[in-house]
Amino acid sequence: MAEALPLFPLTARVTVLRGVGPVYAEAFAEAGITTLRDLLWSLPHRYVDRGSLQKIGELDGRSGADREIVTVLGTIQDLRQSTTRVQRMNLTEALLTDGTGTLRLIWFNQPHVGRLLRAGDRLLAFGPLAFGRHGAELRGPAFELMGRGGDEENLWVRRYLPLYRKLGPVMGRVRQRLTQEALARAAQPEEWLPAELARNVPGNLDALRLLHQPPDDSDPDALDAHATPAHQRLASEELFAFALGVTLRRAGRLARRGQTVPTSPELRERLQDYLPFRLTGAQRQAFREIVADLTSGRVMHRLLQGDVGSGKTLVAFLAMAMVAETGGQAALLVPTEVLARQHAATVRRLLKEDAGRMELLLGPMKAAEKRLALARIASGEAGYVIGTHALFQESVEFSRLQLVVVDEQHRFGVRQREAIKQKGLDPHWLVMSATPIPRSLALALFGDLEQSVLDELPPGRQPITTRLLAPGDAERGWELVERELRAGHQAFVVSPAIDPQDEAKVPLRDIQAMEALLRAQFPDVELAVVHGRLKADAMAERMEGFVSGRTRILLATTVIEVGVDVPNATVMVVDHAERFGLSQLHQLRGRVGRGQAHSHFVMLSGSETDRLKVLVSTQDGFRIAQKDLELRGPGEFFGTRQAGLPQFQAADLVRDRQLLARCREAADRAVQRGLSEQQLAWLKQEQARLKLAEIS
Ligand code: ADP
Ligand code: MG
Repeated sequence: MAEALPLFPLTARVTVLRGVGPVYAEAFAEAGITTLRDLLWSLPHRYVDRGSLQKIGELDGRSGADREIVTVLGTIQDLRQSTTRVQRMNLTEALLTDGTGTLRLIWFNQPHVGRLLRAGDRLLAFGPLAFGRHGAELRGPAFELMGRGGDEENLWVRRYLPLYRKLGPVMGRVRQRLTQEALARAAQPEEWLPAELARNVPGNLDALRLLHQPPDDSDPDALDAHATPAHQRLASEELFAFALGVTLRRAGRLARRGQTVPTSPELRERLQDYLPFRLTGAQRQAFREIVADLTSGRVMHRLLQGDVGSGKTLVAFLAMAMVAETGGQAALLVPTEVLARQHAATVRRLLKEDAGRMELLLGPMKAAEKRLALARIASGEAGYVIGTHALFQESVEFSRLQLVVVDEQHRFGVRQREAIKQKGLDPHWLVMSATPIPRSLALALFGDLEQSVLDELPPGRQPITTRLLAPGDAERGWELVERELRAGHQAFVVSPAIDPQDEAKVPLRDIQAMEALLRAQFPDVELAVVHGRLKADAMAERMEGFVSGRTRILLATTVIEVGVDVPNATVMVVDHAERFGLSQLHQLRGRVGRGQAHSHFVMLSGSETDRLKVLVSTQDGFRIAQKDLELRGPGEFFGTRQAGLPQFQAADLVRDRQLLARCREAADRAVQRGLSEQQLAWLKQEQARLKLAEIS
């Protein structure tokens, strides 16, 4: 036995490890690794099973085994860089030997590989086996540099070799060594998970050992799938810490005194007068929940979820009216000016002769106009305030802001929500989501919000016929458009926004090409084009043209995705549908089928047809969202990093959704019981790294 060295707590800095000087420490810090805990939680990105190593001498005999993935370990005997005669490509060639034979490794146009490697290096290489003029070879294999000059003891002491990604100057091999050392030097922390989560999973340090030094009897598939009890242990720790944070924050909010909005039978009658139609049962229920919050004396934080077209706006309006009609102010925050104008028009229509109580605040407004709006907001005269992020500017003062409704919430950054808090206000919050969000994700993103769900569409909606057409059948789509236009309806055509840097394999038709096509196809039809680079007033004018019915075809990028409401539009054609997420397509589809007439949704695509067929088979936004989440993962689901999703190292919001639900329950119980010392200590350290979706 080696002499016993002192053990460090997991909170110790990585610099306590031998060999971590300022250079490595900085590289680690850049990757978010500052403590032993951080280092140990950075799991191997893959494992090599020694059993899967192949002898080079045995590769050549394998006829017909072309493209098989092989893993070999050997020494570089010879290394050469050259330029090919044809096409003048940079070529790096290495001859690898393991004593049983030699294998050629080649890389095209990757000169850095040649600079990195040297003759004599020990190299672990994996890639598909190919056969060239000189026999077996690996073309462009992935590789790990194992070390120079025999620094390889300990390497294959076990069956599984963990591989780590290079972090700046810290090579994978170095990380491996430092991780082993950290495991040897870290003290087992006291258990902080509640019994119901700690049952059936290894302890903290044991779990880390199982993942960094997998014992020979580990299940390789489970390791790769992150499905071992050890993974579950680490995921539970992250999710429980996260759940505790959410639960505590919610408890903190519920302990605050909120502004009480008075209600009365007269008010109810007044609100009734504003309603153009009977509320659906789901709308009524959601409004009841909101009324209960607003009159409770606590601060409301509520998420209003519902499928596209379920009538969220009307519910939001009622909440605003309840505040505005009793002397308070309600603000409606929307992501774009198009939407702000549209909501303003809706509210104006609902308010009828009281429309003067509403104020619209946009970024680009004439100075005099803006001054007037600001004055009416500051005096409290404006009970209904609608605007874009301009509402957050310092110059905006409210007299009695009681409610903020946020439309299409995920487009707003945390910073903007903070700005309202900075004004020293503590309003009620109602957050509406643009697309349905699967439960697990809603829990993670909005865990401290109460939820109301509109699970019912207003009556009289016609189902939308959805078709998926190969590009060669596009004519059928245009015929449909033609027919709808002739019947007096309007049409949307959507083109993907194309980044010029974007090198797609299939040449994409951009919005200019689509415009040319449409002008040729429908020469006498009034057409307008809108996209993100358009100036605000040009955009407003063109949208207005379509809303009023003057413009018959609106060709757009996804700027129309959010909330545009034109009931006379009955057909939408989406070009290159494969470029869109399922939820996004569903949201686009929701732009038609808003009136009484039968509507059509056509996707043009030559690829990913299985994925796109989900939209043909269902109109249920929650099911589509779940599918989308499974296929693309949470980050992509929102198409943005600023969605405020917590960044987990071990947990995965899709795979671990049930675990998250269990952690939520456990956190509720733990908070009721009161947290232990260890729990508070862990929580403090974990919270710093888990960015929470913050609106409180
Ligand atoms: P979303 O939930 O997608 O924001 P909207 O609020 O835009 O949906 O509502 C979609 C359409 O349904 C709008 O044209 C709206 O006027 C209409 N609508 C809302 N509630 C009802 C209802 N209870 N009965 C009939 N139509 C309704
Ligand atoms: Mg809406």
